[in-house]
Amino acid sequence: MTITTLAELAADLDQGKRSSVEITQDYLSRIEASDHNAFISVNQDLAISQAEAADKLRASGKAGALSGVPVAQKDIFCIEGTQTTCGSKILENFVAPYTATVVENMQNQGLVSLGKTNMDEFAMGSSNETSYYGSVSNPWGNEQNKLVPGGSSGGSAAAVSALLAPAATGTDTGGSIRQPAAFCNLTGIKPSYGRCSRYGMIAFASSLDQAGPMTHTAEDAALLLNAMAGFDAKDSTSLDVPAEDFSAGLNNSLDGLKIGLPKEFFGDGLDSEMAAIIETAVKEFESMGAIVKEVSLPNSHLALPSYYVIAPAEASSNLSRFDGVRYGYRTEEYNDLVDMYTKTRTEAFGDEVKRRIMIGAYALSSGYYDAYYSQAQKLRRLISNDFTDAFKECDVIMGPTTPSPAFEAGSRSDDPVSMYLNDIYTIPANLAGLPAGSIPAGFTKSGLPTGLHLITPYLQEAKMLNIAHKFQQVTDWHTRTAPNAISGGKA
Ligand code: GLN
Repeated sequence: MTITTLAELAADLDQGKRSSVEITQDYLSRIEASDHNAFISVNQDLAISQAEAADKLRASGKAGALSGVPVAQKDIFCIEGTQTTCGSKILENFVAPYTATVVENMQNQGLVSLGKTNMDEFAMGSSNETSYYGSVSNPWGNEQNKLVPGGSSGGSAAAVSALLAPAATGTDTGGSIRQPAAFCNLTGIKPSYGRCSRYGMIAFASSLDQAGPMTHTAEDAALLLNAMAGFDAKDSTSLDVPAEDFSAGLNNSLDGLKIGLPKEFFGDGLDSEMAAIIETAVKEFESMGAIVKEVSLPNSHLALPSYYVIAPAEASSNLSRFDGVRYGYRTEEYNDLVDMYTKTRTEAFGDEVKRRIMIGAYALSSGYYDAYYSQAQKLRRLISNDFTDAFKECDVIMGPTTPSPAFEAGSRSDDPVSMYLNDIYTIPANLAGLPAGSIPAGFTKSGLPTGLHLITPYLQEAKMLNIAHKFQQVTDWHTRTAPNAISGGKA
């Protein structure tokens, strides 16, 4: 089967070739037939009723660009009346009483939610292996060579790559949209901090978390971002900027575009085959008139240490609400309140989540706050300043999204530091709040996808999507179908 884009589905709906109910039903059947474990829950009745409503909307002539198109939602987004687990046992029985703004924005425009995708527990991980609901298989691997889909939006990436959904939402705190997009040959965009509302998106590290689209093409990412983004008074960090049409400038010329290649992103630790793939990708831009220059982000090596203090610190505070009192799991037998808290959290959080809570609580504790948390915030400023300086010399920063392609399932789960190193190139953009994305750049000799990482100045998502779209006009990497995608089906 070949990939189907949101733009193609929207055109079919527009021309009355297929109804939203037919398309939705087709994807629901694929999900049912698949064994990737990409979804934690699927609410068929809800999806079909949304599709019926979208078909009526189209019939009344009031449809938006994506009305009737189905997408998968990361299980970090609350959707009223549906189970919302965030990949954790502690929320196994949690039914959201309200809907996340990002999802509500999509629903108001008639998009259909197919189901909730698997993810690392509380979005902490790079392989989807910390999920309480089991690991997810990367459709670019196979039985003999089981590969992780990346994380934490691993279920979303596997779902789109396996053709179980034409697109999905993801969230990115340190790379969780871009790294799985790179591992599964997708286009994944982390918008500027504040573009997409965080209301109803279960918080991991509030100063870093950002929602974004995971799609086959840049054109689709622009369409989906149009549907997701926008100011929201319910999120105090939401940006009150005029709505933008991210699709408008996709075809702008790249003549004279200044590309900066940070030398720090091409050093030791980068797989040599991948370095060659990125170089070839950059040459494509040169043949479109872009100018390439070396830039420097001298404090990049401080990104990981800074992130692994700030993110756990914020997580330790955010996750204190999961105490067995108001919602979620509660231990069965306990002596008193403290015993109830302790047993509940001991039984229902996984190891990685516990590790982060302990690191975070330690970094914030009196006596250590200045040594760790304040220090990490200072590093964050230096990293952000590096980008400000680099963007004086270039319009976009490019590099590899990850140091290596998708790795074997189980190969890093006992070694947190090697897992953390996956995000060495993606974390700086989160610390600086900048828009960043990953697009398919080519394949290794063993047939694994490689992601090209793009970072643009604040609020310049449209520029990034333009760059990505032009690349996809002259390459076909993004059109390749994963060997282990679902077979059969009509879409
Ligand atoms: N892999 C990183 C972590 O575990 C990033 C996760 C994310 O972006 N949600 O923190």
